[in-house]
Amino acid sequence: MTTFTPADFDFTFLEEGFCARDIVEQKINELSLSDDKDAFYVADLGDVLKKHLRWARALPRVTPFYAVKCNDSRAVVMTLASLGAGFDCASKTEIQIVQSLGVDPSRIIYANPCKQVSQIKYASAHGVQMMTFDSEVELMKVARSHDNAKLVLRIATDDSKAVCRLSVKFGATLKSSRLLLERAKELGLDVIGVSFHVGSGCTDPETYSQAISDARCVFDMGAELGYNMTLLDIGGGFPGSDDSKLKFEEITAVINPALDKYFPVDSGVRVIAEPGRYYVASAYTLAVNIIAKKVIMKEQSGSDEEDDWTSDRTLMYYVNDGVYGSFNCILYDHAHVMPVLHKKPKPDERMYPCSIWGPTCDGLDRIVEQCTLPDMQVGEWLLFENMGAYTVAASSTFNGFQKPDIHYIMSRAAWQCMQQIHAQGMPALAEEQCPGNMPSHCGRESSLELPAKPCAPRVL
Ligand SMILES: *Cc1c(COP(=O)(O)O)cnc(C)c1O
Repeated sequence: MTTFTPADFDFTFLEEGFCARDIVEQKINELSLSDDKDAFYVADLGDVLKKHLRWARALPRVTPFYAVKCNDSRAVVMTLASLGAGFDCASKTEIQIVQSLGVDPSRIIYANPCKQVSQIKYASAHGVQMMTFDSEVELMKVARSHDNAKLVLRIATDDSKAVCRLSVKFGATLKSSRLLLERAKELGLDVIGVSFHVGSGCTDPETYSQAISDARCVFDMGAELGYNMTLLDIGGGFPGSDDSKLKFEEITAVINPALDKYFPVDSGVRVIAEPGRYYVASAYTLAVNIIAKKVIMKEQSGSDEEDDWTSDRTLMYYVNDGVYGSFNCILYDHAHVMPVLHKKPKPDERMYPCSIWGPTCDGLDRIVEQCTLPDMQVGEWLLFENMGAYTVAASSTFNGFQKPDIHYIMSRAAWQCMQQIHAQGMPALAEEQCPGNMPSHCGRESSLELPAKPCAPRVL
């Protein structure tokens, strides 16, 4: 595995005691003199490392294979490659991105159950053996196009409690699993295990334990047909920030006992997962600039509403990134975003019901339907945190609006920690050597803290 230098990542070292927010502030100050107040990101690669340490603590039996589709930025993939993670790739291009960094093909799972034949051939030619399937047609394609595939049967899960459901599109039922295993046997294919994905934004951790128990059934079916399966892949869906309904550790507290029950350590089964958002969401902060504004005066309706919330006006803010850019997560990932104010308002500053819109000419391009914000001017900034997952990866330049620049940063402590993990691996490292050096917040009070509140719906 290649060893990278800071220059390979193209990040800037954070000075001692500084954090991502300080860099956001610094960039805003630099831009304040210019007319070109383009939206930009600050991405803290140290935050990705922190997630990796947290993963090792909470899921010691499970090797993460990062889902590249979530954010395929080179710096992110490089960070995870250095840390020894594996990768979930869904296409030839994603395999190329990962392999261009010197990652061994054994650390890649081609986790797309419906692949184009030419891309199966590409995987075969480049040593990528692990791949998922959920249909008979896929088995026949793989039998014809791959020399030595190690197949993983993707099963459907009950994703009725997930925000983004996946089992409508992917996953075999338990009933069809037996037929698929029989067919694989006839074709002389090697099935090494079972995978699932509970859907993203899963709100019930029991979904994981149910899916782990279903996987056990399929392992037993496989054994009856003469397969000795050795791989369980518990997929993704782990939350990427702590403002999610369900905390990461609440989920792992359900997963660990389920693994110990159905796949005890002495079963010899290797357990992997495909976290995407978990690793990158909180690392990215987006700063957008207000480029236009409208004040909508409320009609004198003559009604006698006596309400604190009654405002004589509504403000519409237009900013320079929207749903065709970074905020595509609102459409594709059902994300709900709220800005953080850049300038702290005065204690008695008046707040107004507001909406926030993207820069394109499409009426769909709305970022926040309702929130309360002070009266701000064109040229002021709004910040959005937790913007690393399913944002830059799927953003377009529709209507000619360019994607924001990303400024990567990392603290020296995080860099040293990463080098140690790279050299010695996670087990050698354990708790002692890293986390203490890496405060999760700036040592001092940030001037930026003040999330906008959603406002009472009846105002507008
Ligand atoms: C998208 C995807 C993931 C990652 O999902 P997250 O919710 O970001 O963790 C993992 N595995 C597969 C097969 C996926 O399609």
